[in-house]
Amino acid sequence: MQFDALPATARMPVLFVGHGSPMNAIEDSPYTQAWKTLGERLPRPAAVLCVSAHWMTRGVSLVHVGTQPRTIHDFGGFPPQLYAQQYPAPGAPDFAQAAIDLVRSTELQPDKSWGLDHGAWSVLIRMYPEAKIPVFQLSLDLTRTARAHYDLARELKPLREKGVLILGSGNLVHNLHAMMPGGKTYDWAEQFDISIARAMEQRNFEAVVNAELQRGIGHLAHPTTEHFLPLLYALGPADAADELTWFNASFDLASISMRSCILA
Ligand code: ZN
Repeated sequence: MQFDALPATARMPVLFVGHGSPMNAIEDSPYTQAWKTLGERLPRPAAVLCVSAHWMTRGVSLVHVGTQPRTIHDFGGFPPQLYAQQYPAPGAPDFAQAAIDLVRSTELQPDKSWGLDHGAWSVLIRMYPEAKIPVFQLSLDLTRTARAHYDLARELKPLREKGVLILGSGNLVHNLHAMMPGGKTYDWAEQFDISIARAMEQRNFEAVVNAELQRGIGHLAHPTTEHFLPLLYALGPADAADELTWFNASFDLASISMRSCILA
């Protein structure tokens, strides 16, 4: 379906969610309580577009256009109860096609092989447990620069006027090697988290796009970039008219920032 043929709606908010451990899908915590509350309080979307840290591609940006995305259990070493979880939300092929039509900076390719990875479903199963709202994912092409991701994300902005909730799902600080159960949050982790948060509060999205991740605290915060890049998909479709609201702004396991935001 063409973008213009989709019914216009009130402008939808944009979300960035720090998803953390896959166990958040089944374990209750203040984080998952906040996700549940979000689902209850946000305007009900016509569809959710999720850009998750866990769908990584190289040299191509894929958009899932299937009608019944499968639940992908893309993790290892967790209890059987987590592998038993299914999130049978329908796909959103019309919205996916609209996204493909909107983006000009690259050619988004339709995909029918992916589904919903845990960056998407572990959050959505809490936000919308009835699994009735259509969901589609866009992959992260890791060969693209942060700038290119941001530019692509900006092109998705008109979807907000068509009832699409754009959800970036990653973590603002994500260092798995440094994780420490019960440990005190590292100074570098707090510094990076705060520096990005302050830039966002000043609507200095350029500073976020240009964040140095190759060295220093940025590299400690993100030894690999895939959990950072989804943030750019929340900033790209936002602008100065959007009010920024933080939630879950704390650390898990000393090196995972759960800081999340609504831009609305
Ligand atoms: Zn993750």
